[in-house]
Amino acid sequence: MSSSTREDPQALVGQELKVHNAGFVRLIDFMGDDAAIIAAARVSYGAGTRSIRTHRGLIRYLMRNRHTSPFEMVELKFHIKAPIFVERQWFRHRTASINSISQRYSEMREEFFIPEPYAIRPQSETNRQGRAEEPMLQETAQWAIEQWQKVNHETYSLYHQLLEVGMSRELARIDLPLSLYTEWYWKINLHNCLHFLSLRLDPHAQEEIRDYAQVIARCVRAIAPITYEAFEDYVLDAVTFSKTEMQLLQKLLRGEQLTSDDLDHGETWRREFER
Ligand SMILES: Cc1cc2nc3c(=O)[nH]c(=O)nc-3n(C[C@H](O)[C@H](O)[C@H](O)COP(=O)(O)OP(=O)(O)OC[C@H]3O[C@@H](n4cnc5c(N)ncnc54)[C@H](O)[C@@H]3O)c2cc1C
Repeated sequence: MSSSTREDPQALVGQELKVHNAGFVRLIDFMGDDAAIIAAARVSYGAGTRSIRTHRGLIRYLMRNRHTSPFEMVELKFHIKAPIFVERQWFRHRTASINSISQRYSEMREEFFIPEPYAIRPQSETNRQGRAEEPMLQETAQWAIEQWQKVNHETYSLYHQLLEVGMSRELARIDLPLSLYTEWYWKINLHNCLHFLSLRLDPHAQEEIRDYAQVIARCVRAIAPITYEAFEDYVLDAVTFSKTEMQLLQKLLRGEQLTSDDLDHGETWRREFER
């Protein structure tokens, strides 16, 4: 997005940006923007930054050279509502401050994630952690949705009955499914947020957390557009090569044929990747 079409970050504050059937990302607050990163970097380099004339040039220099601490000057605070299986993946990112609903304290609402039909796809044969591109048969997807709805409703009814007979909330909740919606506050600095995005926007991440990461990315792009552009260029959409891959590429660029040994290397990498 060019600076002329930049989304106003203040207009995003407080909005529930919808994700899936009942989830959302709400930007609560933020501190700092591209200018805060530039101010911090110029303190560290002083006169040394004179050669980098533009703000954009300096931010791109920092991103490219992994001088990350100026990006920590920007803070972002979100309110997230997502299913528990997304929360479990999200909470693996340890470099954020989190406060979440206590299921021991609060009664949970009957709200469950149900995938849209297009997202209901079979196990991928090449990626053991992912799903294939083609959709399931429509009848199979419909049957799955009905079963999920039935089980969710039955499980929630049991939860409610247990509460009604006086069972403690901390025990009544133990069989609630991973598709149940939960909520948390998430405060993170921009450096760690970009790290989160690099992992959770990646096609290897589960589609549902990727959908949330897209919304977080939209907020980051609005708050710090020059930084986000540099992040896309040098991290998100960049490709790195191993030493061996570089040697093979150099061989190909010199017009040399790859030997069976070279191809064996390739085969080993492929097997390791698919393991
Ligand atoms: C596609 C995908 C598949 C995954 N599959 C699995 C899986 O099958 N099983 C599983 O258990 N997890 C899985 N994970 C979670 C993954 O292993 C990481 O725990 C998660 O992505 C958080 O990454 P992080 O540690 O870099 O982030 P953060 O926790 O935010 O940490 C940021 C950085 O801080 C540093 N850091 C933080 N804490 C420590 C520490 N204690 N010691 C050393 N350095 C630290 C590291 O440099 C780290 O990269 C998966 C993640 C992805 C994206």
